[in-house]
Amino acid sequence: MPYPKRRQRNCKPSRLSLSDRLDVMNRLEMDFQQIFNAAPDIEASAPGRVNLLGEHTDYNDGFVLPTAIPQQTTVYVGHSPNDRHHFYSAELEEWADVSPSESSPQGFARYIYGCIRVLEQIGYSIPPINLFVTSSVPIGSGLSSSAALEVATLRGLRSLLNLNLDDVKIAQLGQQAEIQYASVSCGILDQMACSLADTEHMLFLDTRTLDRQLLPFPTGAEIVVIDSGVARSLADSSYNQRRAECEEAARQLGVKALRDVSDPQMAESLSDPLRKRARHVINENNRVLKVLEGVSAEAFGELMNASHASLRDDYEVSVPALDQLVDILQNTPGVFGARLTGAGFGGACVALVKGGAGKAIAETVLNHYNNAEHRGDTLVG
Ligand code: ADP
Ligand code: MG
Repeated sequence: MPYPKRRQRNCKPSRLSLSDRLDVMNRLEMDFQQIFNAAPDIEASAPGRVNLLGEHTDYNDGFVLPTAIPQQTTVYVGHSPNDRHHFYSAELEEWADVSPSESSPQGFARYIYGCIRVLEQIGYSIPPINLFVTSSVPIGSGLSSSAALEVATLRGLRSLLNLNLDDVKIAQLGQQAEIQYASVSCGILDQMACSLADTEHMLFLDTRTLDRQLLPFPTGAEIVVIDSGVARSLADSSYNQRRAECEEAARQLGVKALRDVSDPQMAESLSDPLRKRARHVINENNRVLKVLEGVSAEAFGELMNASHASLRDDYEVSVPALDQLVDILQNTPGVFGARLTGAGFGGACVALVKGGAGKAIAETVLNHYNNAEHRGDTLVG
């Protein structure tokens, strides 16, 4: 198929008026039309997410506290006129043709095709589709563009084919798609957040039972997310190593997962580095549970600051640039607290700041942080 080239899209949150948004929507449908020579049958979206507290706890059966961000991924889906799947990404300006018998597609097609395959695994018959994806979620910055793509794709297929899937099932299938087809051994945090969170609440989630609650933000506060500009280079190998250390710590403590320990003193019986890893997970779970009691913005900020110190000193997943950015955030007036967010070793930092002050605070912080070495950028705020 002759796929036209598109210009690069701006990955900032949309601040368009309703009529401008409708124009954009019409243009996107036009893009689908241009590319696939037919109108899409359905449109579906899912947001990116940022985790506010509860880092590296999801694969320990623990507690997390994400919120959705304003940026979204949208898919337009229709039936393919032939026996292959056709996918096009506006951001990557890439397309992929995939045979329904393909076992391991490459690139972004893995995420979309993975969703199709996991639906087939549970007994659904999925016809060949045309899928056009466009997104304002920054890709590869730790705001879960991958889970947003999976959840949007699964929502799209649910609408197109009238599939009987609830939002939790969609999250579980998205996680399976990522594990099996993108080879990322992720927990359920990202997909649950993209499937069940909204931008007006924090989503408290017990990753073992999937019990959850939407909680209001601390009064008078909002979120800022700043990319450190440092790529998450060591993230994969270190993530696997931390997972293995946590499993070993749980085994030595005689529990199924570190989530089953609530007293940080218990970690002291282990030798390093397991002692430090377990101490982070136990304290981090306790910090998330503390929020359930209802905390002020100041108290929430303290929990975020303690979380960063624990990720830096006990879990050892920070790097100098993240520490510097967090330090600047924590010392900027109007900031209640800040921490690295995501797996670490680069990526973004999240801060809780005074309501209405996010944009100005992000500008001030970047003025301090950016120099010859650092190119940070505001992702949310
Ligand atoms: P993130 O933190 O953004 O989830 P990941 O490395 O987990 O980072 O996922 C990024 C990958 O997800 C991209 O390399 C791409 O394969 C896929 N992806 C996400 N969003 C899109 C999109 N809009 N178009 C195409 N692929 C996407
Ligand atoms: Mg991801």
